[in-house]
Amino acid sequence: MSDFEGQHCVLTGGAGSIGLAAARQLLARGASVHLVDRDPALLEAARQALAAEGHGERVGTSAADVSDSRQTQDYLAQAVARAGAIDFLFCNAGLNGEIVPITAYPEDVFDTVMAVNVRGTFLALKHGLPLLRDGGSVLITSSVMGVTADPGVSAYATSKHALIGLMRVAAKEVAPRGIRVNAIAPGPTTNGFQNDIERRLSDVVGRDATQMLNEAIPLHRHAQPEEIARMVVFLASAGSSFSTGGVFMADGGMHI
Ligand code: NAD
Repeated sequence: MSDFEGQHCVLTGGAGSIGLAAARQLLARGASVHLVDRDPALLEAARQALAAEGHGERVGTSAADVSDSRQTQDYLAQAVARAGAIDFLFCNAGLNGEIVPITAYPEDVFDTVMAVNVRGTFLALKHGLPLLRDGGSVLITSSVMGVTADPGVSAYATSKHALIGLMRVAAKEVAPRGIRVNAIAPGPTTNGFQNDIERRLSDVVGRDATQMLNEAIPLHRHAQPEEIARMVVFLASAGSSFSTGGVFMADGGMHI
């Protein structure tokens, strides 16, 4: 399928698990992608992997910290210089923080999680929306923790709830330009990000957190990154042309 032929997609957290899975599917459908990540080694590994898969010419990269305004303006300028106006902006970079009660939660970690997850997305919108083509699409990665909560994840859950508010404001602001803005809310997805949470959560709850979460998910399993990526591509595509301001759950029913 080549329904993304000629389209330019910018993905933050693009060298990470969900970002890279989404980039692969967008490339397979003809898009040009620009991956943004703060980890230059991961970014280079992603670039090489995509080049080895035959997509070298349609992949750009920028090493940047999304919570920094100057670096945000730079990655967006680099993307536009390489491939022109943006059709799809995926605000996906994220951190999970600590798993401790609010009373023990380190203030600096709270600030860092909010800076990356919320400020980073705000900056991408502030500086990216003017560079988006009319009729384009924006997707923000929230989480099942954006619509529910569990003990110990105050910074993460707060940040992911905040992103839904930010998404709704943006959706109304850019609707006159025909730009759609949505949020995706993944549940536990098998990758390094989630393994790290579950390793620490197992210590807190005193049992295997992966199994505990599977029991809490009606579909009784974690997602694969490719499953989340398929919904990302749907929300980027004309297939979701009448959807804006929506929170799209991809959580195996965990929020029910
Ligand atoms: P991941 O760790 O593989 O990807 C996150 C990427 O963001 C990493 O490559 C990391 O280097 C990058 N990043 C972190 N801070 C950054 C910064 N300041 N500037 C630029 N890049 C930065 O994990 P993932 O699962 O692919 O996570 C992607 C998104 O999905 C995150 O927003 C996460 O909160 C969300 N999410 C993940 C799960 C899950 O179970 N894995 C569930 C719900 C939501």
